[in-house]
Amino acid sequence: MSLVILGTVAFDAIETPFGKTDKILGGAATYISLAASNFIPETKILSVIGDDFPEEYLTMLQSKGANIEGLRRIAGEKTFFWSGVYHNDMNTRDTLDTQLNVLLKFNSSLPESYKDADFVMLGNLDPSIQLAALEQFNQRPKLVVLDTMNFWMDIALEPLVKVISKVDVLTINDEEARQLSGEYSLVKAARKILAMGPKFLIIKKGEHGALLFSEDEIFYVPALPLEEVFDPTGAGDSFAGGFTGYLCKTRDISFENMKRAVLFGSAAASFCVEKFGTERLESITPEDFSNRVQEFVDLSQVEIDW
Ligand code: AMP
Repeated sequence: MSLVILGTVAFDAIETPFGKTDKILGGAATYISLAASNFIPETKILSVIGDDFPEEYLTMLQSKGANIEGLRRIAGEKTFFWSGVYHNDMNTRDTLDTQLNVLLKFNSSLPESYKDADFVMLGNLDPSIQLAALEQFNQRPKLVVLDTMNFWMDIALEPLVKVISKVDVLTINDEEARQLSGEYSLVKAARKILAMGPKFLIIKKGEHGALLFSEDEIFYVPALPLEEVFDPTGAGDSFAGGFTGYLCKTRDISFENMKRAVLFGSAAASFCVEKFGTERLESITPEDFSNRVQEFVDLSQVEIDW
């Protein structure tokens, strides 16, 4: 059982209606790894950082089970930097700045110890790098999950379509599903996107939950109405980490088990938004997690007597 996670390990500067941060720890692989650590003892990170990246962040990730053999530091380069501002409803955001920096030097060569992984999470990153990483496994992993965003649809659609054709599950948000398919209806969008290759599609709808599609089934998990929402950054990645971490732990990739995985992913995302950056994810206990999952179950379960 092992999970390789590709994605950014980054600095983020975030502004929400509740406050503003300077450069803090962020990145898709960071959030995915922290969320997955609630299910499996080790995650193998494949990413790149510059020499400005603090050692203490690496120590924290390792303390949460991250294997960082594939997290390479490149001297003389700066770490990937992203900054964004959220609108009042917190469901939409504008990217203020994306500095690729060290990502432009990313050599995706997989460490030998990563090559037999059976679960792979291709987190948000340049699709050419996602493709190059996927080609290096010794055998086709049991499950490959892909996350991406509008940024890559705008500037790298061709390699993105290629990588989409090679994965089992694609996770994107509703706006991105519409952009990728050219359809407003999410049902029509899902049909078109599934025809591009993936067997399953997850459409994340922020505070309105998430939809799981297969060719002939749809499943929906609501988002938990939360008392405190400070910062949605990383919610999508935390969802992906909870989803893949649970599937990796249970080793069952049926549609039935993916329904449970969507619930666990939603629970991970619900923690992420409660504080700025990775702060809340760093402090979840197993008890917190099981209580939260129960809240999700209670939220929409009802006995119906016809
Ligand atoms: P999410 O809120 O789940 O969509 O992910 C937010 C994280 O994605 C932040 O921590 C950023 O560092 C990272 N990020 C933002 N833009 C990009 C990009 N173009 N490529 C890869 N990662 C990105």
